[in-house]
Amino acid sequence: MSTRAKAISAINQMKPAKTTIPYKEENSINKFGENVFSMSVMKKRLPNDIYKSLKKTVENYSILDASVAGVVANAMKDWAISKGASHYAHVFFPLTGATAEKHDSFLVPDLSGNAIAEFSGKTLIQGEPDASSFPSGGIRQTFEARGYTAWDVTSPAYVMESPNGATLCIPTAFLSWTGEALDKKTPILRSMQALNAQAQRILRLFGDNSGKIVSATCGAEQEYFLIDKHFISLRPDIQAAGRSLFGAPSPKGQQFDDHYFGAITDRVLAFMFEVELELYRLGIPVKTRHNEVAPGQFEVAPVFETANLATDHQQLVMVTLKKIAKKHGMECLLHEKPFAGINGSGKHCNYSFGNASQGNLLDPGATPHENAQFLVFCAAIIRGVHKYAKVLRAVVASAGNDHRLGANEAPPAIISIFLGEQLADVFEQIKNGGATCSKECGVMQIGVDALPDLPKDAGDRNRTSPFAFTGNRFEFRAVGADQSVSGPLVAMNTIFAESIDYIATELENATAGDPSKLNAAVQDVMKKIIDEHGTIIFNGDNYTKEWHEEAARRGLPNLKTTPEALPVLIEDDVLELFSKYNVLSKKEMHSRYEIYLEQYNKKIDVEAKTVVEMAKTIIYPAAVRYQTDLADSCLKMKELGVDCDDSVLKETAGLILELKAAIKTLEALIAHESDDAMAEAKTYCEKTLPAMLNIRAITDKLEGVVADDLWPLPTYQEMLFTR
Ligand code: ADP
Ligand code: MG
Repeated sequence: MSTRAKAISAINQMKPAKTTIPYKEENSINKFGENVFSMSVMKKRLPNDIYKSLKKTVENYSILDASVAGVVANAMKDWAISKGASHYAHVFFPLTGATAEKHDSFLVPDLSGNAIAEFSGKTLIQGEPDASSFPSGGIRQTFEARGYTAWDVTSPAYVMESPNGATLCIPTAFLSWTGEALDKKTPILRSMQALNAQAQRILRLFGDNSGKIVSATCGAEQEYFLIDKHFISLRPDIQAAGRSLFGAPSPKGQQFDDHYFGAITDRVLAFMFEVELELYRLGIPVKTRHNEVAPGQFEVAPVFETANLATDHQQLVMVTLKKIAKKHGMECLLHEKPFAGINGSGKHCNYSFGNASQGNLLDPGATPHENAQFLVFCAAIIRGVHKYAKVLRAVVASAGNDHRLGANEAPPAIISIFLGEQLADVFEQIKNGGATCSKECGVMQIGVDALPDLPKDAGDRNRTSPFAFTGNRFEFRAVGADQSVSGPLVAMNTIFAESIDYIATELENATAGDPSKLNAAVQDVMKKIIDEHGTIIFNGDNYTKEWHEEAARRGLPNLKTTPEALPVLIEDDVLELFSKYNVLSKKEMHSRYEIYLEQYNKKIDVEAKTVVEMAKTIIYPAAVRYQTDLADSCLKMKELGVDCDDSVLKETAGLILELKAAIKTLEALIAHESDDAMAEAKTYCEKTLPAMLNIRAITDKLEGVVADDLWPLPTYQEMLFTR
């Protein structure tokens, strides 16, 4: 039996997972937050004055009173120990996009040969992991290995359980010893501060002097694939690169649209329930689950949270999906494009901002034309997206996401805004002198007496737009499934802070403290914005060729690949933008640019090497075996004097020769080295990737020729449909 056949037989013999969650005894919703050192736990366990001081820092971003750390650390330790924790870990988010953690035990030996558990304020506030193995993009030399992790009070600590023990996890920022951010969290916190400072000025102009912090919010929808582990163990490409580098399309793909929102199978549902329970316990409010468009593809989405917390939680969602999938005998693929010709996976980043006195500031209400404050914030977004479209493109650039942006399933690399009918109309009115009405939403009559009339939304959805208004928030849809939401959120916070700053300054100057002048001033600045930046609005189909031509006429950037997009990060106006709002210094931006470029290069290098190895040692031998079978058969037929059709033999032999030559070309490209990372990236993009595709085209043809029982790699059909 071939290894492939064995894998399929193993899957078929698999017993359904036993009920492991006693859901009838206790509803999983009751478990929400049970492993979190939350505000309510702190209220119970901390002296009142200390609790209040911490609460103030969390709610107002006010300066952390370091003197409280000792008491908090002790309470945190006692609570964690009551949950079985023996260790603590400063968790941080280095620029690799992964989650990093360094564990230490609470154990402190005493002189009598015993030990006690201890956790001091100092160790809570600051950790000192060796930073030398994390990318720094030239910020420090390897001999300056020191890095610091700093406690982020605004993201609660939690206990992470594993089969043989539990660990207290403390979310932290990660910095070089010279104070530069080496992580994804620090700029999120800085950018939230920047956005708040500017938004307060608008709120004050409109009479909200509450000073309640304006926080960016994010709800990130995560798409992913689940593939049985038996197949993955036969696919070195998926193991090494997260995606299939070989594989002919299967006759049945996604053409019937029969997977999207389809009934979820028991095996997958068992996995989802377990993921959700685990996330509930960590206080992560996951809410939505469904089958996605591609076979084997699914989605999970939480209720939105403030940007910083949402980012930490999103990271935990990814870790948990992968971990629980393994328990259920599957691999969770977060790659943006695991299967060619099949829809890829994104991470739609729903974004808004709001405060405690007014709630969501991007909620237009029923009559947006009368809601001047909403229109101001909305105009700030239109201006920001237009002015810095290239930044939004650059922060979603990665080797994986390049396969997705531009294929007709995810938004194209051209950034534009979809406003929906109602809002587009309001802004059109502003352009023409002033908005006096909002298109009615109305009700939808279904025509069945027993069914209620449904209130209609103000605009339809547009699935093709990279940046779409969806009723009370914007949805940035170009983010890749494998990416941290940090980059996109930092970019949005910062470019909108700059726009809000611009509008606030205009309005403050025009009104000079006289509120009666506000309305006219708002109309003026809005008209100016819509005149200058309205070209970013596009309500049509972003997939069409006509849009690409139209976008070019409008002068919108179309940065198709990562090597084209990343240099945006170090363009003068962009460096200026991020340093002006104290989000990332020029040095930090340069370091990020270098790290992301290096990551792109490394990713494709690994892929290219994997292609060569698999082509040479897995596919070539299988093809030669088949060739030998055919040749033997032909010889025997000739000996017997029977006519023999040798066309398949010739086809196979031809493809084998082509394969050999194509491998040689790719090997030469891999051997090529350069000190210039950008030159190297261009080679990877323009030469290496096409050479890989060339090999694949040949092997995919071989897959259609070689006898099925000799073909070594699990096919697309098997991986996508056997579960
Ligand atoms: P759809 O697939 O229809 O776009 P989902 O329900 O899958 O919608 O996801 C919508 C996401 O948007 C959820 O995570 C939701 O919590 C989030 N969201 C809703 N309101 C806001 C808001 N004000 N700020 C940020 N995210 C929001
Ligand atoms: Mg969704």
